[in-house]
Amino acid sequence: MRIFSATLATETNTFSPLPTSIEAFKESVFLRPGEHPADAPRMCTAPLFVARQRAARDGFKLIEGSCFAASPAGKVNQADYEFMRDEVLAQLRDALPLDAALFGLHGAMVAHGYDDVEGDLLEKARGIVGPKCVIGVEHDPHCHMTLKRIRNCDIMICYKEFPHTDVSDRAEDLLTLVLRTLKGEVKPVMSLYDCRQIGSYPTTLPLMRGFVDRMMALEGKDGILSVSAVHCFPYGDVEELSGRILVVADGDKSKADALAMRLGEEYVSMRGKTMPQFLSVTDGVKAAMEEREGPVVIADPADNAGGGAPTDNTTILRQLIAMNTTGAAIGPIWDPVAVRLCFDAGAGARFPLRFGGKIGPASGPPVDATVEVGAVARDCWQTFGPTQVPLGDCAAVKIGGVEAVLITKRTQALGLELFANVGIDPLARKILVVKSTNHFMGAFGPIAKRVIYVESDGPLARDYRKIAYAKVRRPIWPLDAETQPGLVF
Ligand SMILES: [Zn+2]
Repeated sequence: MRIFSATLATETNTFSPLPTSIEAFKESVFLRPGEHPADAPRMCTAPLFVARQRAARDGFKLIEGSCFAASPAGKVNQADYEFMRDEVLAQLRDALPLDAALFGLHGAMVAHGYDDVEGDLLEKARGIVGPKCVIGVEHDPHCHMTLKRIRNCDIMICYKEFPHTDVSDRAEDLLTLVLRTLKGEVKPVMSLYDCRQIGSYPTTLPLMRGFVDRMMALEGKDGILSVSAVHCFPYGDVEELSGRILVVADGDKSKADALAMRLGEEYVSMRGKTMPQFLSVTDGVKAAMEEREGPVVIADPADNAGGGAPTDNTTILRQLIAMNTTGAAIGPIWDPVAVRLCFDAGAGARFPLRFGGKIGPASGPPVDATVEVGAVARDCWQTFGPTQVPLGDCAAVKIGGVEAVLITKRTQALGLELFANVGIDPLARKILVVKSTNHFMGAFGPIAKRVIYVESDGPLARDYRKIAYAKVRRPIWPLDAETQPGLVF
């Protein structure tokens, strides 16, 4: 058996002022065959990583393709997308004959000229490998699950957890189903229910937790192979943005349809009940200061790099300084120039620094302060579930009782290393402000005495009615009160 695997991934915020070029991929994940690290998957490369570990045991030859992934930002440069796509497709052609192809795709990538990048890639891949080759795809649930993709693959699986701690587990599921299909043990058929809704569904909150647990309990029984809840990516203005339920069944399309409808209707009934409560910045900081024990974790989802935000909004930081907070640390703030200046000044130096507040109006004003440089560290990393995520060179700066972690490779707060890399013990701080929607919960949830979500003036509005959509198909909740959910595949 011959199986090919490759990755092409980013999550495109079509409203972001930060264009995404091939340089952003080179900064994050740009791995040609033979260059894949052996220790852990990188972002969306779990299908290749898992297949490599299982190839000998499961009796197939893995042909490794390129893996390209970038931190979320604005639309991808068209020529750069086509270059990466064509490299993967050429590798696919060279690998023929193939029994299967595994793609690790984020699922919400938009390039100039391509609103459905993954659909384009899968359609062209299908054209190369032919109808008999089994195409298996892993997606992030924050994706656009378009019909073009479903028509051009055999098995599609999304991560179930948000925070996405199960990227490798779902890649294992995908590979197992692909191998079972090749052995003739199962014959996957898919059904897709469109809930016509935009929402956010952290699985750390009880309603979605219960929904996901029940989804998982349905798998492997009564002819159901896999169930995925598509959360959607609210900041990608494309026609098929919507929450959807995807069911993969064994040969019985009517069974897949029935379950997709049942779960889809339940998902619709959860509208407006799956997000945490948000406090204003002032109330959030005040509430954190009033707690007797720390660390109290304040989340800033509106400035989450994981949703394509610049991550240089200063509103919460300025509030912490204005309220004379002590024992507080905030991170990450993306400012490569300021990091460079801190390295030049050196650890322990005091000097006037302007940082943050650079990329756009939603970044707020920069902070001008005499800072004390804490630790500076080259080439830092943080851990997210089974994956490693680069932070680049980092510096900690102190203004009164507040420390800020400045980074050079734009990403959200995921692992405790974000702070520990630059000498800040997160357990020893009263308040930790993290720029992240919910992925921070994987590492920071267990150490937090309390978690407070605030709505800052960062660019990712939590009220989707405030977003200037132009392409999203209407009607859709919460933009429209009346919608028509239903089976679409
Ligand atoms: Zn996601």
